[in-house]
Amino acid sequence: MDRLIEGHKRFHNEVFPGKQGHFHLLAEIQNPEWLFITCSDSRIVPDLILQTEPGDLFITRNAGNIVPVSGSDVDGITATIEYAVEVLKVKHAILCGHSDCGALKAALNRKALENLPKASRWLRHVEGAFTHRQPLRPEEGEHAELASIIRGNVITQLANLKAQPSVANAVAHGRLTVHGWYYDILSGRIETWNEQERQFQPLLGPLD
Ligand SMILES: [Zn+2]
Repeated sequence: MDRLIEGHKRFHNEVFPGKQGHFHLLAEIQNPEWLFITCSDSRIVPDLILQTEPGDLFITRNAGNIVPVSGSDVDGITATIEYAVEVLKVKHAILCGHSDCGALKAALNRKALENLPKASRWLRHVEGAFTHRQPLRPEEGEHAELASIIRGNVITQLANLKAQPSVANAVAHGRLTVHGWYYDILSGRIETWNEQERQFQPLLGPLD
């Protein structure tokens, strides 16, 4: 725990004073523009890869960046999405998967889930990833199959996101746009799902 306590000390003594005005504004209200749904993976740090600040992103995370299909059960993810859309009125909802995702690795090799009854049940939500798997990319070598399934999972969860009643309604009224992203840990680059062209494309242009 020492490292965390030391870190908090540094934040409180060195970082916080410089941003005090910003935190003062945020102390009683938040007005985030983006809902960001991603995996729990420790290597995905949204505020780092997007250079955002406190108050910018409303975030919900879970193993596999899953949006459970609408059903009778209430869960933390869909409740959070509803709040973000109906109350915070975010303008964009971004569903972000990532390379080397353990959740999809486990879905490929269910043996890894033998002693994990809850994870095993949870990961049934990613089965659609196999239907939506993307073409293999030779440049991804031995990781190509996993990457194709992870991209398929982004498409699957994006469809689940759009099917949420609050999201469907906000999109229909033109006050919300949804995005499907794939973040590559090795290159630090993001790809975005192009619905019209049915393919993932770099978020940045070739000169960026
Ligand atoms: Zn993951």
